Amino acid sequence: MNYVSTRGQAPAVTSSQAIINGIAPDGGLYVPEKWPKLKLDWKNLSQQSYQEIATQVFDAFFDDFTVQEIDHIISKSYGNQWDAESIVTLHNENKLHYIELFHGPTLAFKDVALQALPHLLTTAAKKQSLNDKIVILTATSGDTGTAAMSGFANVENTEIVVFYPEVGVSDIQRQQMQTEEGHNAHVTAITGNFDDAQKAVKSILSDEKLIQELSEKGMRFSSANSINIGRLVPQIVYYIYAYAQLVKNDVVVPGEEINIDVPTGNFGNVLASYYASQLGLPVHQFTVASDENNVLTDFFNTGIYDRQRDFKVTNSPAMDILVSSNLERLLYFASGRNDEEVRQYMKSLAENGQYTLTDKTRNYLQKFTAKFATQSQVVDTIKDVFENSGYLIDPHTAVGRFAYEEETQQTLLAATASAYKFPQTVLAALQEKNEGGVVDLQKLAERTNTVIPAQVATLFDKTIVHTKIIEPAMIMQSIKDELSI
Ligand SMILES: *Cc1c(COP(=O)(O)O)cnc(C)c1O
Repeated sequence: MNYVSTRGQAPAVTSSQAIINGIAPDGGLYVPEKWPKLKLDWKNLSQQSYQEIATQVFDAFFDDFTVQEIDHIISKSYGNQWDAESIVTLHNENKLHYIELFHGPTLAFKDVALQALPHLLTTAAKKQSLNDKIVILTATSGDTGTAAMSGFANVENTEIVVFYPEVGVSDIQRQQMQTEEGHNAHVTAITGNFDDAQKAVKSILSDEKLIQELSEKGMRFSSANSINIGRLVPQIVYYIYAYAQLVKNDVVVPGEEINIDVPTGNFGNVLASYYASQLGLPVHQFTVASDENNVLTDFFNTGIYDRQRDFKVTNSPAMDILVSSNLERLLYFASGRNDEEVRQYMKSLAENGQYTLTDKTRNYLQKFTAKFATQSQVVDTIKDVFENSGYLIDPHTAVGRFAYEEETQQTLLAATASAYKFPQTVLAALQEKNEGGVVDLQKLAERTNTVIPAQVATLFDKTIVHTKIIEPAMIMQSIKDELSI
Protein backbone atom coordinates (compact mmCIF):
# COMPACT_ATOMS: atom_id res chain seq x y z
CA MET A 1 0.00 0.00 0.00
CA ASN A 2 1.51 3.29 -1.10
CA TYR A 3 0.97 6.84 0.08
CA VAL A 4 -0.09 9.58 -2.31
CA SER A 5 -0.18 13.36 -1.89
CA THR A 6 -3.46 15.18 -1.15
CA ARG A 7 -2.41 17.60 -3.91
CA GLY A 8 -1.85 14.83 -6.46
CA GLN A 9 1.36 16.19 -7.97
CA ALA A 10 3.98 14.08 -6.26
CA PRO A 11 4.99 10.45 -6.81
CA ALA A 12 3.41 7.71 -4.70
CA VAL A 13 5.83 6.45 -2.01
CA THR A 14 6.11 3.63 0.49
CA SER A 15 5.33 4.25 4.14
CA SER A 16 9.00 4.44 5.10
CA GLN A 17 9.60 7.10 2.43
CA ALA A 18 6.53 9.03 3.58
CA ILE A 19 7.83 9.01 7.17
CA ILE A 20 11.23 10.30 6.05
CA ASN A 21 9.80 12.96 3.72
CA GLY A 22 7.23 14.23 6.26
CA ILE A 23 5.51 16.49 3.74
CA ALA A 24 5.11 15.58 0.05
CA PRO A 25 7.27 17.51 -2.45
CA ASP A 26 4.18 19.23 -3.92
CA GLY A 27 3.35 20.69 -0.50
CA GLY A 28 0.55 18.18 0.09
CA LEU A 29 0.17 15.59 2.86
CA TYR A 30 0.60 11.85 2.44
CA VAL A 31 -2.58 9.76 2.59
CA PRO A 32 -2.99 6.00 2.08
CA GLU A 33 -3.80 5.15 -1.53
CA LYS A 34 -6.54 2.87 -0.19
CA TRP A 35 -7.69 2.00 3.33
CA PRO A 36 -5.79 -1.01 4.67
CA LYS A 37 -7.83 -4.07 5.54
CA LEU A 38 -7.85 -4.65 9.27
CA LYS A 39 -10.19 -7.23 10.70
CA LEU A 40 -11.84 -5.58 13.69
CA ASP A 41 -13.18 -8.55 15.64
CA TRP A 42 -14.23 -6.66 18.77
CA LYS A 43 -14.67 -9.68 21.03
CA ASN A 44 -11.16 -10.72 20.19
CA LEU A 45 -9.74 -7.18 20.42
CA SER A 46 -11.34 -6.72 23.83
CA GLN A 47 -8.98 -9.40 25.16
CA GLN A 48 -5.87 -7.80 23.65
CA SER A 49 -3.30 -5.46 25.17
CA TYR A 50 -2.67 -1.96 23.86
CA GLN A 51 0.62 -3.16 22.40
CA GLU A 52 -1.05 -6.03 20.56
CA ILE A 53 -3.60 -3.71 18.98
CA ALA A 54 -0.88 -1.19 18.15
CA THR A 55 1.10 -3.91 16.38
CA GLN A 56 -1.83 -4.69 14.06
CA VAL A 57 -2.49 -1.02 13.24
CA PHE A 58 1.21 -0.34 12.59
CA ASP A 59 1.47 -3.50 10.44
CA ALA A 60 -1.50 -2.36 8.37
CA PHE A 61 -0.30 1.20 7.72
CA PHE A 62 3.47 0.64 7.63
CA ASP A 63 3.36 -2.40 5.40
CA ASP A 64 6.90 -2.13 4.06
CA PHE A 65 8.25 -2.68 7.61
CA THR A 66 8.95 -6.27 8.65
CA VAL A 67 7.09 -7.90 11.53
CA GLN A 68 10.35 -7.85 13.52
CA GLU A 69 10.83 -4.14 12.86
CA ILE A 70 7.31 -3.31 14.04
CA ASP A 71 7.69 -5.49 17.15
CA HIS A 72 10.92 -3.70 17.99
CA ILE A 73 9.33 -0.26 17.49
CA ILE A 74 6.29 -1.16 19.63
CA SER A 75 8.41 -2.50 22.48
CA LYS A 76 10.62 0.62 22.48
CA SER A 77 7.64 3.01 22.26
CA TYR A 78 5.19 1.49 24.73
CA GLY A 79 7.27 0.20 27.61
CA ASN A 80 7.87 1.28 31.16
CA GLN A 81 8.35 4.97 30.35
CA TRP A 82 4.52 4.97 30.72
CA ASP A 83 2.94 5.13 34.15
CA ALA A 84 0.05 2.88 33.04
CA GLU A 85 0.75 -0.61 31.76
CA SER A 86 -2.19 -0.23 29.40
CA ILE A 87 -0.61 3.04 28.04
CA VAL A 88 -4.03 4.75 28.02
CA THR A 89 -6.81 4.37 30.59
CA LEU A 90 -10.54 5.10 30.64
CA HIS A 91 -12.40 7.21 33.18
CA ASN A 92 -16.16 6.90 33.18
CA GLU A 93 -18.86 9.50 33.93
CA ASN A 94 -22.30 8.16 32.88
CA LYS A 95 -22.31 7.89 29.09
CA LEU A 96 -19.07 9.81 28.83
CA HIS A 97 -15.74 7.98 28.74
CA TYR A 98 -12.54 10.02 28.97
CA ILE A 99 -9.60 8.31 27.23
CA GLU A 100 -6.69 9.42 29.40
CA LEU A 101 -3.86 9.92 26.94
CA PHE A 102 -1.44 11.56 29.36
CA HIS A 103 0.36 8.69 31.07
CA GLY A 104 3.60 9.18 29.11
CA PRO A 105 6.83 10.98 30.01
CA THR A 106 5.61 14.55 29.39
CA LEU A 107 2.01 14.13 30.59
CA ALA A 108 0.34 14.99 27.27
CA PHE A 109 -1.14 12.94 24.44
CA LYS A 110 1.64 13.87 22.02
CA ASP A 111 3.79 11.27 23.80
CA VAL A 112 1.70 8.48 22.25
CA ALA A 113 3.05 9.40 18.82
CA LEU A 114 6.36 11.00 19.75
CA GLN A 115 7.60 8.01 21.72
CA ALA A 116 7.17 6.02 18.49
CA LEU A 117 8.26 8.50 15.81
CA PRO A 118 12.03 8.38 16.52
CA HIS A 119 12.04 4.58 16.12
CA LEU A 120 9.85 4.75 13.02
CA LEU A 121 12.18 7.35 11.54
CA THR A 122 15.46 5.60 12.29
CA THR A 123 14.07 2.26 11.08
CA ALA A 124 12.69 3.89 7.92
CA ALA A 125 16.08 5.51 7.26
CA LYS A 126 17.82 2.12 7.55
CA LYS A 127 15.30 0.58 5.15
CA GLN A 128 15.99 3.32 2.64
CA SER A 129 19.75 2.87 3.14
CA LEU A 130 20.13 6.42 4.39
CA ASN A 131 23.13 6.52 6.65
CA ASP A 132 22.76 10.18 7.53
CA LYS A 133 22.23 11.17 11.11
CA ILE A 134 18.74 12.61 11.48
CA VAL A 135 18.53 16.10 12.94
CA ILE A 136 15.15 17.12 14.34
CA LEU A 137 14.93 20.91 14.44
CA THR A 138 11.89 22.41 16.11
CA ALA A 139 10.60 25.65 17.54
CA THR A 140 8.11 25.05 20.28
CA SER A 141 5.66 26.98 22.37
CA GLY A 142 4.74 23.99 24.43
CA ASP A 143 3.88 20.35 24.20
CA THR A 144 5.47 19.38 20.89
CA GLY A 145 9.00 20.37 21.89
CA THR A 146 8.98 18.63 25.24
CA ALA A 147 7.37 15.47 23.85
CA ALA A 148 9.73 15.41 20.85
CA MET A 149 12.74 15.89 23.11
CA SER A 150 11.65 13.10 25.39
CA GLY A 151 11.04 10.77 22.44
CA PHE A 152 14.32 11.49 20.66
CA ALA A 153 16.55 11.71 23.75
CA ASN A 154 19.41 9.21 23.46
CA VAL A 155 17.97 7.61 20.29
CA GLU A 156 20.95 6.48 18.27
CA ASN A 157 21.79 8.36 15.10
CA THR A 158 19.58 11.37 15.91
CA GLU A 159 20.11 14.88 17.23
CA ILE A 160 17.25 16.94 18.62
CA VAL A 161 17.57 20.73 18.48
CA VAL A 162 14.86 22.72 20.25
CA PHE A 163 14.33 26.48 20.44
CA TYR A 164 11.72 27.85 22.80
CA PRO A 165 10.64 31.44 23.50
CA GLU A 166 11.87 32.98 26.72
CA VAL A 167 8.35 34.25 27.34
CA GLY A 168 5.16 32.23 26.85
CA VAL A 169 6.06 28.74 28.11
CA SER A 170 4.74 27.44 31.43
CA ASP A 171 6.95 26.78 34.49
CA ILE A 172 6.59 23.05 33.98
CA GLN A 173 7.45 23.21 30.30
CA ARG A 174 10.52 25.41 30.91
CA GLN A 175 11.75 23.05 33.61
CA GLN A 176 11.14 20.01 31.35
CA MET A 177 13.25 21.61 28.65
CA GLN A 178 16.08 22.99 30.77
CA THR A 179 16.66 19.70 32.60
CA GLU A 180 16.65 17.34 29.60
CA GLU A 181 19.62 15.00 30.07
CA GLY A 182 19.74 13.25 26.69
CA HIS A 183 23.26 13.50 25.25
CA ASN A 184 21.82 14.37 21.81
CA ALA A 185 19.48 17.13 23.07
CA HIS A 186 20.30 20.77 22.28
CA VAL A 187 17.96 23.23 23.95
CA THR A 188 18.14 27.00 23.63
CA ALA A 189 15.87 29.84 24.74
CA ILE A 190 15.23 32.70 22.34
CA THR A 191 14.51 36.27 23.35
CA GLY A 192 11.10 37.27 22.04
CA ASN A 193 7.90 35.31 21.51
CA PHE A 194 7.00 32.04 19.82
CA ASP A 195 6.40 33.69 16.48
CA ASP A 196 10.00 34.97 16.37
CA ALA A 197 11.34 31.49 17.15
CA GLN A 198 9.03 29.81 14.64
CA LYS A 199 9.90 32.21 11.79
CA ALA A 200 13.64 31.86 12.34
CA VAL A 201 13.49 28.05 12.42
CA LYS A 202 11.26 27.80 9.32
CA SER A 203 13.67 29.82 7.19
CA ILE A 204 16.58 27.65 8.33
CA LEU A 205 14.87 24.37 7.42
CA SER A 206 14.93 25.41 3.76
CA ASP A 207 18.39 27.05 3.75
CA GLU A 208 20.16 25.30 0.84
CA LYS A 209 23.63 26.22 2.06
CA LEU A 210 23.08 24.83 5.54
CA ILE A 211 21.46 21.68 4.12
CA GLN A 212 24.58 21.20 1.98
CA GLU A 213 26.89 21.73 4.95
CA LEU A 214 24.89 19.26 7.01
CA SER A 215 25.03 16.72 4.23
CA GLU A 216 28.84 17.03 4.05
CA LYS A 217 28.90 16.08 7.72
CA GLY A 218 26.56 13.11 7.16
CA MET A 219 23.44 14.75 8.61
CA ARG A 220 19.97 15.70 7.34
CA PHE A 221 17.01 17.60 8.73
CA SER A 222 13.74 15.85 9.41
CA SER A 223 10.47 16.95 10.98
CA ALA A 224 8.57 15.87 14.07
CA ASN A 225 5.56 17.90 12.93
CA SER A 226 2.08 16.41 13.32
CA ILE A 227 1.57 16.16 9.56
CA ASN A 228 4.00 13.20 9.46
CA ILE A 229 2.14 9.88 9.01
CA GLY A 230 4.51 8.55 11.69
CA ARG A 231 2.64 10.78 14.14
CA LEU A 232 -0.85 10.17 12.82
CA VAL A 233 -0.96 6.37 12.72
CA PRO A 234 0.00 5.79 16.40
CA GLN A 235 -3.01 7.94 17.36
CA ILE A 236 -5.48 5.64 15.57
CA VAL A 237 -4.61 2.87 18.01
CA TYR A 238 -6.19 4.35 21.14
CA TYR A 239 -9.61 4.86 19.57
CA ILE A 240 -9.70 1.17 18.61
CA TYR A 241 -8.31 0.10 21.99
CA ALA A 242 -10.82 2.29 23.88
CA TYR A 243 -13.80 0.91 21.94
CA ALA A 244 -12.56 -2.63 22.57
CA GLN A 245 -12.46 -1.78 26.29
CA LEU A 246 -16.07 -0.53 26.11
CA VAL A 247 -16.98 -3.91 24.58
CA LYS A 248 -15.04 -5.71 27.29
CA ASN A 249 -16.88 -3.78 30.01
CA ASP A 250 -20.28 -4.43 28.37
CA VAL A 251 -20.82 -0.71 27.81
CA VAL A 252 -21.45 -1.28 24.10
CA VAL A 253 -22.22 -4.35 22.03
CA PRO A 254 -19.84 -4.92 19.10
CA GLY A 255 -20.87 -2.70 16.20
CA GLU A 256 -22.86 -0.23 18.33
CA GLU A 257 -22.19 3.35 17.22
CA ILE A 258 -20.47 5.79 19.54
CA ASN A 259 -19.69 9.51 19.50
CA ILE A 260 -16.15 10.86 19.57
CA ASP A 261 -15.29 14.26 21.05
CA VAL A 262 -11.79 15.70 20.56
CA PRO A 263 -10.25 19.02 21.66
CA THR A 264 -8.48 20.23 18.56
CA GLY A 265 -5.62 22.39 17.36
CA ASN A 266 -3.89 21.11 14.25
CA PHE A 267 -6.71 18.56 13.61
CA GLY A 268 -4.34 15.60 14.03
CA ASN A 269 -6.00 13.82 16.92
CA VAL A 270 -9.55 14.10 15.57
CA LEU A 271 -8.36 13.04 12.11
CA ALA A 272 -6.92 9.87 13.68
CA SER A 273 -10.40 9.05 14.98
CA TYR A 274 -11.80 9.54 11.47
CA TYR A 275 -9.11 7.14 10.16
CA ALA A 276 -10.20 4.63 12.82
CA SER A 277 -13.79 4.96 11.56
CA GLN A 278 -12.61 4.19 8.01
CA LEU A 279 -11.07 0.97 9.35
CA GLY A 280 -14.43 0.00 10.85
CA LEU A 281 -14.80 1.77 14.20
CA PRO A 282 -18.57 2.49 14.37
CA VAL A 283 -18.92 6.27 14.81
CA HIS A 284 -22.23 8.14 14.87
CA GLN A 285 -20.80 11.63 15.33
CA PHE A 286 -17.47 13.45 15.69
CA THR A 287 -17.37 16.56 17.87
CA VAL A 288 -14.58 18.98 16.98
CA ALA A 289 -13.92 21.16 20.03
CA SER A 290 -11.93 24.40 19.75
CA ASP A 291 -10.87 27.22 22.04
CA GLU A 292 -11.34 30.92 21.22
CA ASN A 293 -9.31 30.35 18.06
CA ASN A 294 -12.55 28.95 16.68
CA VAL A 295 -11.78 28.81 12.97
CA LEU A 296 -12.80 25.11 12.82
CA THR A 297 -16.10 25.76 14.60
CA ASP A 298 -17.03 28.27 11.91
CA PHE A 299 -15.74 25.94 9.19
CA PHE A 300 -17.96 23.01 10.17
CA ASN A 301 -20.95 25.27 10.75
CA THR A 302 -20.71 27.27 7.51
CA GLY A 303 -18.52 25.37 5.05
CA ILE A 304 -16.17 28.39 4.93
CA TYR A 305 -12.62 28.22 6.26
CA ASP A 306 -11.49 31.75 7.08
CA ARG A 307 -8.23 32.25 8.90
CA GLN A 308 -8.40 36.05 8.66
CA ARG A 309 -8.97 36.80 12.32
CA ASP A 310 -6.89 37.69 15.36
CA PHE A 311 -4.78 35.00 16.92
CA LYS A 312 -5.61 34.59 20.61
CA VAL A 313 -3.30 33.35 23.34
CA THR A 314 -5.60 31.28 25.57
CA ASN A 315 -5.44 29.03 28.63
CA SER A 316 -5.41 25.98 26.30
CA PRO A 317 -2.19 27.02 24.51
CA ALA A 318 -1.60 23.75 22.64
CA MET A 319 -4.79 24.45 20.67
CA ASP A 320 -4.03 28.06 19.77
CA ILE A 321 -3.80 27.77 16.00
CA LEU A 322 -5.44 29.35 12.97
CA VAL A 323 -4.33 27.00 10.20
CA SER A 324 -5.13 23.39 11.07
CA SER A 325 -2.80 21.56 8.70
CA ASN A 326 -4.29 18.10 9.02
CA LEU A 327 -7.71 19.30 7.86
CA GLU A 328 -6.30 19.04 4.33
CA ARG A 329 -6.44 15.26 4.68
CA LEU A 330 -10.12 15.30 5.62
CA LEU A 331 -10.84 17.57 2.62
CA TYR A 332 -9.15 14.99 0.40
CA PHE A 333 -11.46 12.21 1.55
CA ALA A 334 -14.54 14.45 1.78
CA SER A 335 -14.09 15.53 -1.84
CA GLY A 336 -13.93 11.89 -2.94
CA ARG A 337 -10.11 11.94 -3.28
CA ASN A 338 -10.34 14.91 -5.62
CA ASP A 339 -6.81 16.34 -5.50
CA GLU A 340 -7.64 19.12 -7.93
CA GLU A 341 -10.35 20.38 -5.56
CA VAL A 342 -7.91 20.20 -2.61
CA ARG A 343 -5.33 22.19 -4.58
CA GLN A 344 -7.91 24.89 -5.23
CA TYR A 345 -8.85 25.15 -1.55
CA MET A 346 -5.20 25.37 -0.49
CA LYS A 347 -4.41 27.92 -3.19
CA SER A 348 -7.32 30.05 -2.07
CA LEU A 349 -6.25 29.74 1.57
CA ALA A 350 -2.72 30.86 0.68
CA GLU A 351 -3.82 33.73 -1.55
CA ASN A 352 -7.05 34.95 0.06
CA GLY A 353 -6.86 33.52 3.57
CA GLN A 354 -10.06 31.53 3.03
CA TYR A 355 -11.97 28.98 0.94
CA THR A 356 -15.55 27.76 0.60
CA LEU A 357 -16.48 24.08 0.29
CA THR A 358 -18.57 22.79 -2.59
CA ASP A 359 -22.03 21.56 -1.54
CA LYS A 360 -21.07 17.99 -2.34
CA THR A 361 -17.97 18.05 -0.15
CA ARG A 362 -19.74 19.85 2.66
CA ASN A 363 -22.45 17.24 2.55
CA TYR A 364 -19.89 14.53 3.27
CA LEU A 365 -19.06 16.19 6.59
CA GLN A 366 -22.49 15.74 8.19
CA LYS A 367 -21.10 13.48 10.89
CA PHE A 368 -18.93 16.33 12.15
CA THR A 369 -20.28 18.85 14.62
CA ALA A 370 -18.22 21.65 16.10
CA LYS A 371 -18.29 23.87 19.14
CA PHE A 372 -15.89 26.17 20.97
CA ALA A 373 -15.25 27.21 24.57
CA THR A 374 -14.16 30.62 25.80
CA GLN A 375 -11.42 30.84 28.42
CA SER A 376 -13.91 31.49 31.19
CA GLN A 377 -16.02 28.50 30.05
CA VAL A 378 -12.85 26.40 30.28
CA VAL A 379 -12.21 27.53 33.84
CA ASP A 380 -15.88 26.97 34.82
CA THR A 381 -15.85 23.49 33.27
CA ILE A 382 -12.75 22.44 35.26
CA LYS A 383 -14.45 23.68 38.44
CA ASP A 384 -17.85 22.09 37.70
CA VAL A 385 -16.43 18.70 36.76
CA PHE A 386 -14.27 18.64 39.87
CA GLU A 387 -17.06 19.75 42.19
CA ASN A 388 -19.66 17.40 40.70
CA SER A 389 -17.58 14.26 40.31
CA GLY A 390 -14.17 14.79 41.92
CA TYR A 391 -12.47 14.29 38.57
CA LEU A 392 -9.64 16.63 37.70
CA ILE A 393 -9.25 17.71 34.07
CA ASP A 394 -6.76 19.99 32.30
CA PRO A 395 -7.77 23.08 30.26
CA HIS A 396 -7.55 21.27 26.89
CA THR A 397 -9.70 18.37 28.03
CA ALA A 398 -12.08 20.99 29.46
CA VAL A 399 -12.61 22.41 25.97
CA GLY A 400 -13.77 18.96 24.84
CA ARG A 401 -15.84 18.49 27.99
CA PHE A 402 -17.58 21.82 27.41
CA ALA A 403 -18.52 20.72 23.89
CA TYR A 404 -19.97 17.43 25.13
CA GLU A 405 -23.72 16.97 25.09
CA GLU A 406 -25.28 13.77 26.35
CA GLU A 407 -27.06 11.78 23.65
CA THR A 408 -28.25 8.21 23.32
CA GLN A 409 -24.79 7.07 22.21
CA GLN A 410 -21.85 6.46 24.49
CA THR A 411 -19.10 9.04 23.95
CA LEU A 412 -15.30 8.77 23.95
CA LEU A 413 -13.63 12.07 24.89
CA ALA A 414 -9.89 12.50 24.28
CA ALA A 415 -8.35 13.71 27.57
CA THR A 416 -5.20 15.21 26.09
CA ALA A 417 -3.14 16.38 29.08
CA SER A 418 -2.78 15.94 32.81
CA ALA A 419 -4.02 18.78 35.01
CA TYR A 420 -0.51 18.70 36.51
CA LYS A 421 0.89 20.03 33.27
CA PHE A 422 -1.13 23.23 33.66
CA PRO A 423 -1.33 23.75 37.43
CA GLN A 424 -1.68 27.55 37.22
CA THR A 425 -4.92 27.48 35.24
CA VAL A 426 -6.32 24.53 37.17
CA LEU A 427 -5.56 26.11 40.56
CA ALA A 428 -7.15 29.37 39.45
CA ALA A 429 -10.24 27.42 38.35
CA LEU A 430 -10.45 25.95 41.84
CA GLN A 431 -10.06 29.45 43.27
CA GLU A 432 -6.59 28.93 44.65
CA LYS A 433 -3.67 31.36 44.35
CA ASN A 434 -0.67 30.59 42.13
CA GLU A 435 2.81 30.68 43.54
CA GLY A 436 4.72 28.99 40.73
CA GLY A 437 7.07 26.02 40.50
CA VAL A 438 6.81 23.00 42.73
CA VAL A 439 4.60 24.80 45.27
CA ASP A 440 1.73 24.81 42.77
CA LEU A 441 2.06 21.06 42.24
CA GLN A 442 1.89 20.47 45.98
CA LYS A 443 -1.06 22.81 46.38
CA LEU A 444 -2.94 21.07 43.58
CA ALA A 445 -2.32 17.66 45.15
CA GLU A 446 -3.57 18.83 48.56
CA ARG A 447 -6.56 20.73 47.24
CA THR A 448 -7.79 17.86 45.04
CA ASN A 449 -6.58 14.89 47.04
CA THR A 450 -4.70 13.54 44.03
CA VAL A 451 -1.11 12.40 43.65
CA ILE A 452 1.55 14.42 41.82
CA PRO A 453 2.55 12.26 38.81
CA ALA A 454 6.09 10.89 39.08
CA GLN A 455 6.95 12.54 35.75
CA VAL A 456 6.83 16.00 37.37
CA ALA A 457 7.21 15.17 41.08
CA THR A 458 11.00 15.49 40.96
CA LEU A 459 11.18 17.87 38.03
CA PHE A 460 12.16 20.83 40.17
CA ASP A 461 14.93 18.84 41.91
CA LYS A 462 16.66 18.09 38.64
CA THR A 463 19.81 19.91 37.58
CA ILE A 464 19.35 22.60 35.00
CA VAL A 465 21.63 21.72 32.10
CA HIS A 466 20.46 24.05 29.33
CA THR A 467 20.84 27.73 30.10
CA LYS A 468 21.69 29.30 26.75
CA ILE A 469 19.60 32.33 25.73
CA ILE A 470 20.14 33.91 22.31
CA GLU A 471 18.66 36.55 20.00
CA PRO A 472 16.59 35.13 17.09
CA ALA A 473 19.23 36.44 14.65
CA MET A 474 21.76 34.05 16.19
CA ILE A 475 19.80 30.82 15.56
CA MET A 476 21.82 29.79 12.51
CA GLN A 477 25.14 30.20 14.33
CA SER A 478 23.74 28.41 17.35
CA ILE A 479 22.70 25.37 15.26
CA LYS A 480 26.17 25.23 13.69
CA ASP A 481 27.83 25.40 17.11
CA GLU A 482 25.58 22.71 18.57
CA LEU A 483 26.14 20.34 15.63
CA SER A 484 29.84 21.24 15.25
CA ILE A 485 29.61 22.30 11.62
C1 LIG B 1 -1.37 19.30 20.73
C2 LIG B 1 -2.45 19.26 21.74
C3 LIG B 1 -3.82 19.34 21.38
C4 LIG B 1 -4.27 19.52 19.95
O1 LIG B 1 -4.04 18.35 19.20
P1 LIG B 1 -4.14 18.38 17.59
O2 LIG B 1 -3.77 17.01 17.16
O3 LIG B 1 -3.13 19.42 17.15
O4 LIG B 1 -5.51 18.75 17.24
C5 LIG B 1 -4.76 19.26 22.39
N1 LIG B 1 -4.41 19.14 23.68
C6 LIG B 1 -3.11 19.07 24.07
C7 LIG B 1 -2.80 18.95 25.52
C8 LIG B 1 -2.08 19.12 23.12
O5 LIG B 1 -0.80 19.06 23.50
